[in-house]
Amino acid sequence: MQKDDLLRLLRDPNLLPSEMQDLLSSIVAQAASLNMPCYLVGGSVRDLLLSRPVKDLDVVVEGDAIKLGKALVKKFGGKLTRHDKFCTAIWHLPATFDFQPLTLDLITARKESYDHPGALPTVTPATIEDDLRRRDFSINAMAIRMDGDRFGELLDPLNGQADLDQGIVRALHSRSFVEDPTRILRAIRYEGRYSFALDSETLKLINHESFACLSNLSGERLRHEIDLIFEEGNAGQIIIRVDNLKVLNVIHTALPSFNLNYADFLDMDPKLDFPRSRIIMGYMLWLMDLAEDEILSIAKHLDFTSELTHSIRAVSQLKKKLPVLMNSKPSLWTFALEKFPPDSVYAVYLVTRENALFEYLSIWRDVKPHTTGDDLKARGLQPGPRFGEILSHLRAAWLDGVVGSREQENELLNTIL
Ligand code: ATP
Ligand code: MG
Repeated sequence: MQKDDLLRLLRDPNLLPSEMQDLLSSIVAQAASLNMPCYLVGGSVRDLLLSRPVKDLDVVVEGDAIKLGKALVKKFGGKLTRHDKFCTAIWHLPATFDFQPLTLDLITARKESYDHPGALPTVTPATIEDDLRRRDFSINAMAIRMDGDRFGELLDPLNGQADLDQGIVRALHSRSFVEDPTRILRAIRYEGRYSFALDSETLKLINHESFACLSNLSGERLRHEIDLIFEEGNAGQIIIRVDNLKVLNVIHTALPSFNLNYADFLDMDPKLDFPRSRIIMGYMLWLMDLAEDEILSIAKHLDFTSELTHSIRAVSQLKKKLPVLMNSKPSLWTFALEKFPPDSVYAVYLVTRENALFEYLSIWRDVKPHTTGDDLKARGLQPGPRFGEILSHLRAAWLDGVVGSREQENELLNTIL
């Protein structure tokens, strides 16, 4: 790519929003004043070259990134989290920068070595070229010089641009997946995201040797990679590809492929107004048809939060319970569904289209009688379990259309009392 073309991409507000450009200029100027060569690297460069909007800034300096971070905090404010072992710092941006996310990683160009496969790397400061060589794939191993006269120069020692043009995900060396088996999942994720293909040599590295390392990874690291897959637009296809490459089975033998009939539900515009996380929805849709003990075993192995485990179990239980509830009165539905998290009810609605679930989420769950505990006290009743029973009775009457006005509710209350 010509330097002029690259400069045009760097200045395109559709690719790098102006607030990102401002933030980047501030960092580059500060790095320059400390005589630190400064580079945009990794995903930022890849997405710029693909003419796709840059999601987050990956900034590397040849020099001490912690020193740079301290200078930035002194000049602009905000806070710094240091990771001395990795020579990196996280700058928690001051409110003056109108920028999402609210943090930015500052990285010292470095070399990495691995004590044993799957271990976290040992880090030594190095040149930008060394830094590019420690990365995962050629398409993620390019840098753009940002400071001084060489501003806008592309560094591409591993031919990432050629692979980007041809749509190839290529690991940088034959030990790549053994050193860090999370890269197997990363490779498949980029392949799916950009509709690229795995390079044939890279594909061969997804083999028994790297599988042995993959199966030793901590549940937390595995789950994080799967979470990232669920953030992708075509997560369903990516999981299927992970399965077809026999990788799912290595992670846990009970992990199923993804039911493509459910794939669209990840993207579905929720007509219903409650918070739902795409990641939790992904796991619910993926694992809902498993047996309880399989869900628990996977949850343990992948270190799921108790909230996530609860949501998935709820979906699976509710789906099984549905036939029993069919043709019940709204009050029965409501009292049964209230025991499940709304996200789980929503997931079951998506795959069954049972209208009662929709009614529950959009209307029934908010139906309450006018009468309150205070009203019952005012009528001389002693607080106790009977309070709940009376209020439930009134609520059921509203839900089932037995009462439809405050007067009718009062009449019913008189009868009950
Ligand atoms: P995304 O769009 O998914 O965020 P990204 O390329 O920005 O893609 P990050 O996970 O944010 O990915 O990492 C930033 C960069 O760090 C990558 O582009 C890559 O160069 C490097 N990197 C990340 N994870 C690894 C890894 N496991 N091994 C080697 N290099 C990695
Ligand atoms: Mg990124």
